[in-house]
Amino acid sequence: MTLILPPYQSKLQGWPGLIEAYRSYLPVTEETPVVTLQEGNTPLIPVPAIANQVGRQVEVFVKYDGLNPTGSFKDRGMTLAISKAKEAGAKAVICASTGNTSASAAAYARRGGMRAFVIIPDGYVALGKLAQALLYGAEVLAIKGNFDQALEIVRDVADKYPVTLVNSVNPYRLEGQKTGAFEVVDTLGDAPDWLCIPVGNAGNITAYWMGFCQYHKTGKCDRLPKMMGFQAAGAAPIVQGYPVANPETVASAIRIGNPASWEKAVAAQEASQGNFTPVTDEEILEAYRLLASSEGIFCEPASAASVAGLLKVKDQVPTGARIVCVLTGHGLKDPDVAIKHSHNNQFCQGIEPTIEAVAKIMGF
Ligand SMILES: *Cc1c(COP(=O)(O)O)cnc(C)c1O
Repeated sequence: MTLILPPYQSKLQGWPGLIEAYRSYLPVTEETPVVTLQEGNTPLIPVPAIANQVGRQVEVFVKYDGLNPTGSFKDRGMTLAISKAKEAGAKAVICASTGNTSASAAAYARRGGMRAFVIIPDGYVALGKLAQALLYGAEVLAIKGNFDQALEIVRDVADKYPVTLVNSVNPYRLEGQKTGAFEVVDTLGDAPDWLCIPVGNAGNITAYWMGFCQYHKTGKCDRLPKMMGFQAAGAAPIVQGYPVANPETVASAIRIGNPASWEKAVAAQEASQGNFTPVTDEEILEAYRLLASSEGIFCEPASAASVAGLLKVKDQVPTGARIVCVLTGHGLKDPDVAIKHSHNNQFCQGIEPTIEAVAKIMGF
């Protein structure tokens, strides 16, 4: 007798991507052409050294979304946004980006047979992200302006010309991204007490909250987490309560002064009795180094804002709490920041190529 399994249970194909995995929770039909790179199903990794620093017998996990196909959580939203664009007959998509959206849009658009236009702030996109957009074959327009200006332009262009906007103002982006919350609950068996997350354009915090609420409604979890959003101190419009004209931070992925999902993010924070807190670049880089050197986890600077934030507000953590920090992107995205801020003084160069010279430096 042959056992016929759904494709995602077949050992040969493994994980099918998040549209197939969560089809009944997503706005797709049998007619939707699924454009996937088998994104999602990223690991939830315990981080004991971080938990130790928090104390109070807490459990801390990181949702390592840097392990998605293009190296950031943006793939969760992009698989759905591009599939729906293809279903609607789009031939081209456009986005503004601090880097990761452009990498993801480029990869999924090209896989779906579409053109990808990406508008980026000239000089403020991390090297790995730019490399990706170029190699995936996007049409890259670097403007002499910041992300907020780029977003205004692409909104206008998409209004006037036959191109589909795939920034997180496209509702399918958030629908896809909410699967991050599903995976956290599927792994832990319930929602955590706290969800710590970096906030830039504020789409992801909105999407996670949507996911937790949807799972709660359908009985997949008994409770809802406090949504703890962290912004870079130099780009903290939601914390301050007004837009920031010239946002500045080493964490380029959250260098955003006027978030598109501002109100929705505040609604999530209020409904969950969470908080928005600023973290300085120094605190971000400290957490970035700690994650890599103590836990073996290399994320990009913006992602480390979630852990920096947790450490900053650790006095507010309830004893024994279970906490998930979202690591939004991979460390290899931004090699320049890694090298410049590693603080590693054990990098020895110009050594004679002999056993004696090497052993001596090793201390033998
Ligand atoms: C896009 C991005 C963010 C910010 O997410 P928003 O949805 O814009 O708040 C944070 N970290 C990384 C790595 C990103 O790519």
